Amino acid sequence: MSKTVSILGATGSVGRQALDVVSRRGYRVDLLTAGSDARALENLAREYKPKAVALAEEKAARDLALSLGDTDIKVFSGEEGICEAVALSESEVAVNAILGKAGLMPTLAVIDSGKRLALSNKESLVIAGDIVMSRAREKGVEIIPVDSEHSAIFQSLKSGRHSEIKRIILTASGGPFFGKSRSELSRVTLADTLNHPTWKMGKKITVDSATLMNKGFELIEACHLFSLPEVKITVSVHRESILHSAVEYIDNAIIGEFSVPDMRMCVQYALDYPNRTEAVAEPLDLTRIGSLTFFEPDCEAFPFLPLARRAIREGGAMPAVMNAADEVAVAAFLTSRLDFTGIYRVVEETFEKLLDRRNSSSLEDIIDADREARLLCESLI
Ligand code: MG
Repeated sequence: MSKTVSILGATGSVGRQALDVVSRRGYRVDLLTAGSDARALENLAREYKPKAVALAEEKAARDLALSLGDTDIKVFSGEEGICEAVALSESEVAVNAILGKAGLMPTLAVIDSGKRLALSNKESLVIAGDIVMSRAREKGVEIIPVDSEHSAIFQSLKSGRHSEIKRIILTASGGPFFGKSRSELSRVTLADTLNHPTWKMGKKITVDSATLMNKGFELIEACHLFSLPEVKITVSVHRESILHSAVEYIDNAIIGEFSVPDMRMCVQYALDYPNRTEAVAEPLDLTRIGSLTFFEPDCEAFPFLPLARRAIREGGAMPAVMNAADEVAVAAFLTSRLDFTGIYRVVEETFEKLLDRRNSSSLEDIIDADREARLLCESLI
C-alpha cells in the first residue's frame, strides 16, 4: 500500500536513511525540511520531487527559493515556515529527524496536524515530554519512536500489559570510551570521540554517545513514551548493539528485539506499523555474532546517566536545561573550545545554578529556561 511521507531534518543522517526507506518502499514524499544546507536540500528536492520544502535559516531559504525557481516546489522559511508547511502537508506520516531543540515546535506542529509522528528527535520529549505526550493524547496522534532502543521497547511491549512491566532494559553501546576512568577521559581527543564502535551517526549524537548523555536523553524519552518512572528503567551496556533493548515482565520473562544495527529498520517499522513489511535491512546471523555481552554502566566516570535521572525527578524545565547546556557544550567541544571532560563540568554547573527551573512547566517557561541555560553555559566555557 502506498503512502505519502514528510521528512523533517531530511539532510541529516537519519533523514537520509528515512529517504532510502521511502524509496525502497515506493512511497511518495510531499515535504522535505532542513536547517541551513540549501544545496543539499535542493538536490534532495530535485530527486524526490516533494510539493514543498522548508529551511529553518531564512537566508538559506531565500537562496533555495531562487535555485528551485524552475520548479513548482513551494519553499517555506524559518521555524514558523516549517510548522506551516507541516500543517499544509497532506502526508499520513511525518518523520521528525531534526537535531536538537529545533525539533520541538515541528513535533507539536505534526501532532496538531493529526499525522502519525515517527519520532527520531528525542529532544522534543526531553525538553517538553509532558506537553508533547498530552497534546498527542488530546489529538489522538500516534507517536512511533524511531530511536533504535525505543523502537525495540515499543515492539517488546506488544507481549504484555503496562501493569505487567517489571522494568525496561535500555541497552547502550557504551561508546568509544567504554572501560575508561575519569582521568583517562580527560586525555581523549575529538578524533577519538567521533570514532563510534557500532553506529554511523551525526557528530552531535556521536559525542553524546561517548559522554553517555545520549543514554540519559533516551532514559527520559522512555519515561515519557512509555509512561514509566525512571526507577523502572535499567541501563545495560551491550557492546555489540544487537539487542536493541528489552522489557522484563513481572513473571521475569525478558522480551527484546534483536537485529543488525541499522536505523532504517526503525524508520520502516514506524512508517508501516502495525504491519511488518519486506526487509530493507540485512538479516542478522546470530551464529556469526557468536556471543553477546552485558555490563553495568560506570556512572562515576560517565556522570550524565545519574544527572538525567535527577533531571527527570526534579522535573519542570530541568531536562530542558540539561539538554540546552549539552547542545552548547558539545558545539564548543566540536570546535575545540572545550575538552571532553569540560562537557561534564559546564553541563553540571549550568544544571546546579538553574535548579529553580524545576518549577518551570509551561511551554513558554521551558523555552525561556532553555535560553537562559544556553547563555549561562556559554559563559562557563
Ligand atoms: Mg538510540
